[in-house]
Amino acid sequence: MEKPCPRSCRPEDPEPKARGLVDLHGRAIRYLRLSVTDRCNLRCRYCMPPVGTEWVPHEDVLSYEEMERILGVCSRLGVSKVRITGGEPLLRKGIEGFIARISAMGAVKDLSLTTNGVLLAGKARELRRSGLHRVNVSLDTLDRKKFAHITRVDAFDDVIRGICAAYEHGLRPVKVNVVAIKGFNDDEVAEFAGLTVRLPVEVRFIELMPLGCVSRFPELVHVEAGEILARIEEAYGGLEELEKGLGPATVYKIPGAHGRIGIIGALSGHAFCASCNRIRITARGRLRPCLFSEEELDIMTPLRSGVTDEELEAVIVEGVRRKPASHGACRGTSIGDRGPLRQAMHTIGG
Ligand code: SAM
Ligand code: SF4
Repeated sequence: MEKPCPRSCRPEDPEPKARGLVDLHGRAIRYLRLSVTDRCNLRCRYCMPPVGTEWVPHEDVLSYEEMERILGVCSRLGVSKVRITGGEPLLRKGIEGFIARISAMGAVKDLSLTTNGVLLAGKARELRRSGLHRVNVSLDTLDRKKFAHITRVDAFDDVIRGICAAYEHGLRPVKVNVVAIKGFNDDEVAEFAGLTVRLPVEVRFIELMPLGCVSRFPELVHVEAGEILARIEEAYGGLEELEKGLGPATVYKIPGAHGRIGIIGALSGHAFCASCNRIRITARGRLRPCLFSEEELDIMTPLRSGVTDEELEAVIVEGVRRKPASHGACRGTSIGDRGPLRQAMHTIGG
């Protein structure tokens, strides 16, 4: 009997279907999150301990050339959206040149970067010139003292300057990531949402996830997406729903506002996994099919032992095949039945 075509094209098709990354659950993978470093200049309490983090040695971190090769292969497989992250990506020397080279490849239609914003004011102009389209800046509080508490560094003003510079130099839309933590910033939800009334920013509330050191600190308790939404509705009345199921965030607008509000129910959102179109590559060169699964594929060793592009492609295709249907962390209780994951976000690439 004739074997079915692995790419599901019928024999009579004039041309085989374009190659692409489709996982076993039918999700087309178009989005790569690439971590360029595990290091950081802040020590957010939910991400890193104050001291004692062992950094990946420089020689074990992917070089820019290696990342460019991976990106070339991924883009031939249909990846058109890339987010540079870390650790703090703006700490890595030569990041602007790297972004310029990715941009020159021409295949990435949406090139973004997630940053804590501390170094952004000095780099926004060059990043935009290099071809970066947009940034997400993490900011968990609008209070200078609380900022110094949660990040353990007094750099609130630098971050605010960074956000302004990003907008000024055309990195748009500017998105502000807020990890919602009970008793720390849940009382600021309405104030953060209020920023979108006056400013053309997208404020994205993210449920705190049980990664790394989170479970060691009983004060780090997440706020469910439903509660975040209720707090905003209480302050501003009904919201317009703009997007649902297109990405991890459900996006809303306060009627008449300039900006938008995204709520990412990483744990409580039922559609979170169903709409997942991403893979991650960590700074130490591991392909991570799912944020919440510790399974990773080593891409560094084959890269450094002289594989061909076809062989590299096979590793990436295999990584995508291993994407689980769902992370399972949202079943039963909202914080997850499976227990916390050992690795913190700065080592994975948030
Ligand atoms: N250093 C950059 C920054 O903070 O934007 C980029 C890397 S950071 C790991 C990416 C995002 O992950 C940030 O918005 C951060 O707040 C978020 N993050 C880190 N640990 C998290 C956790 N346990 N739960 C939810 N979000 C987390
Ligand atoms: Fe650094 Fe980002 Fe982690 Fe904060 S969340 S410690 S800024 S990597």
